[in-house]
Amino acid sequence: MEVAVPLPIDHPFTYRVPSGQEARARVGVRVLVPFGRQKVTGLITALADGSTLGGREAREVLSFLDEEPYVSSAHLAFLYAAARECLAPLGEMLRAALPGGLPRRAAPAAPRTETVYRAAEGSPAALTPKQRRVYAAVLEAGEISSPDLSALVPGGGDVARRLAAKGILAGSVRMKSPALSASPFPDTSGALVPTSHQEAALAKTGVALASGGFAAFVLHGITGSGKTEVYLRAVEQARLTGRQTVYLIPEIALTPQLLGRVRARFGEGAAVLHSGLPPAERAHQWRRIRAGEVFLCIGARSAVFSPFSSPGLFIVDEEHDSAYKQEEGIRYQARDLAVMRARMEGAVVLLGSATPSAESIRLTRTGEAELLSLPERIGTRHLPEISIVDLKGQSARRGADRYFSSALEDAVEETLSRGEKAMLFVNRRGYAPALTCLDCGTTVQCRNCQVSLTFHKQDGVLLCHYCSAKEIPPERCGSCDGHKVAQVGIGTERLVAWAARRWKDARVARLDSDVGRKRGSYEEILSRMHGGEVDILVGTQLIAKGHDFPEVTFVGVLLADLSLSFPDFRSAERTFQILTQVSGRAGRGDRPGKVIIQTLSPEHVCIRKAAEHDFHGFMEAELAEREALDYPPFGRMLLLRFWGPKLERVQEAAETVAETLSRPLSEAGIRMLGPAPSPIAFVKKKHRYQILLKMPPRFAVGDFFPELLRPMREVAKKAGVRMEADVDPYNLMI
Ligand SMILES: [Zn+2]
Ligand SMILES: [Zn+2]
Repeated sequence: MEVAVPLPIDHPFTYRVPSGQEARARVGVRVLVPFGRQKVTGLITALADGSTLGGREAREVLSFLDEEPYVSSAHLAFLYAAARECLAPLGEMLRAALPGGLPRRAAPAAPRTETVYRAAEGSPAALTPKQRRVYAAVLEAGEISSPDLSALVPGGGDVARRLAAKGILAGSVRMKSPALSASPFPDTSGALVPTSHQEAALAKTGVALASGGFAAFVLHGITGSGKTEVYLRAVEQARLTGRQTVYLIPEIALTPQLLGRVRARFGEGAAVLHSGLPPAERAHQWRRIRAGEVFLCIGARSAVFSPFSSPGLFIVDEEHDSAYKQEEGIRYQARDLAVMRARMEGAVVLLGSATPSAESIRLTRTGEAELLSLPERIGTRHLPEISIVDLKGQSARRGADRYFSSALEDAVEETLSRGEKAMLFVNRRGYAPALTCLDCGTTVQCRNCQVSLTFHKQDGVLLCHYCSAKEIPPERCGSCDGHKVAQVGIGTERLVAWAARRWKDARVARLDSDVGRKRGSYEEILSRMHGGEVDILVGTQLIAKGHDFPEVTFVGVLLADLSLSFPDFRSAERTFQILTQVSGRAGRGDRPGKVIIQTLSPEHVCIRKAAEHDFHGFMEAELAEREALDYPPFGRMLLLRFWGPKLERVQEAAETVAETLSRPLSEAGIRMLGPAPSPIAFVKKKHRYQILLKMPPRFAVGDFFPELLRPMREVAKKAGVRMEADVDPYNLMI
């Protein structure tokens, strides 16, 4: 029989079944097998007669680890197909897709109880500010679990325990709910009447789900139009047909509100899967899904591998988000795998976004998917009014001042004077993205990478955003010994400093991944924001992801060009998406919202169309340009990356591979660009080269490339060079 082992080897191994145990050998069962001098856990992938191996006796399986298949045959078929599509060995796909890879033993059970708190009788005596926040959160929720409390107020669980010891709170132990770290959310499902657009969309999904076959929908709903309500009702529709739903979101840690809503609606019927869960909890969630104890799994990209027996619906929220592309280990696109799995399972796939990707819009044009629209915001809320400010006129102003037009200053001023809140967005963390000598123009570069170092004022260091190397900022130029070394450009830290200086009475907070790294600080800022304790929130894209702050009426985009200047065919699309998402934060309450986009390229179509809320106008222009250049979705791409410590070796390996491939590729109608140095050609002390292949749309990558690339990997390996194949790449820089 054939056994796959969770190692980067792209073929299964043949083993013999010990006599008398034939009945236990079933596809999908885990086995312990000898592998070299080790014992490893493998998965039976086929039962073909494998008693001999090239005249040599195959080794014997040591033991069977399951009575029933650990992975069902339908699930295994999907993992197989996914591995082929990603040009990855099945063993590595198993390692990425199954919790803990293929564990020999089941992970120990996670604790199944938790403490919940209620307010005790009587009003409490003097409390510290933190205790007051915890007490208020308990009062508001009525009853709340320790982990949920910690999600709302950092360290809230510990504070509550001490308050309970003092008799201010009453604690009791109960069975734990699913692993949802969630904000309390009232169950409003009964009260909400769907809009006519929501109803029309649900009528389509309902018919498709009832028919039991494959169908794909692209749900284009503007920000605030009620996409989530459509998803949740579609989950109900799938449940009525006896099938389960996989619900993907780009980043689970950013969505406590959504999880609260899911729990309010579905309670114990929902599981959560994401890589941030402790291993035991993740294994527990996995078992509940496989055992059919839940009908919904909500999770980040890896939840596409949920082991449901009969998934009938795949929801991909914010389907355009590049977070769906796994960029480490196996490079897979979870949205594309969801469509593929839906096809294999005869299921419905629902791709939702305020700014659907060019790929998804293309599917609606070719008839492979149907477009559903939610063109209006719920209730009386209107889309914000967006104006563009040309920053080129600002060059007379100096330092950080040049990033603040008077229009932007006035708008923030007016917002604050009305007691409302503002958000300022800049797509770059740190204080200044470069330290440059004003005499000779030299910029301080990372010693390990071909990029300039970003100055982080809070830590007082220069930081490389690619390899995380740190350096003390030099006082004199390393090149000309001049002393006029200036901080150039703007990042979130500098923006916060500027805003705090400009509006002395305003409470200014920052939210970016530097802040998010510290445990609990992300939740703390969100809870301060919800509590109305922040007047100006400064941040990167993190401030835009799915948050609903009704008091925010103004959003300022400092420099829209930052994402536009990347040498990447998706840069205009990404900029349009970011601008739409950030603008969508303004005016979500009763008061109208206003947005100012500052830019050096006010004429660019993605900026003009974002300001006009004209998604289709933008997409029309974008698709025309992509088609003219055969870029996705009008063709597929494969990026071959090469890297190693010696430049000549890397270059030579890339050239050898290009030469060998050139004939078979041109015979198959595939165009080859390169080999050439990667746009960032030196990262983490490794030189980088790449070859970009452009294929016709729907080219069967998984059928064509595996055999062709296997000897190429050997060529590279012999030269001490790593080679990696990235199907439909999202990162073309390195
Ligand atoms: Zn200099
Ligand atoms: Zn670096």
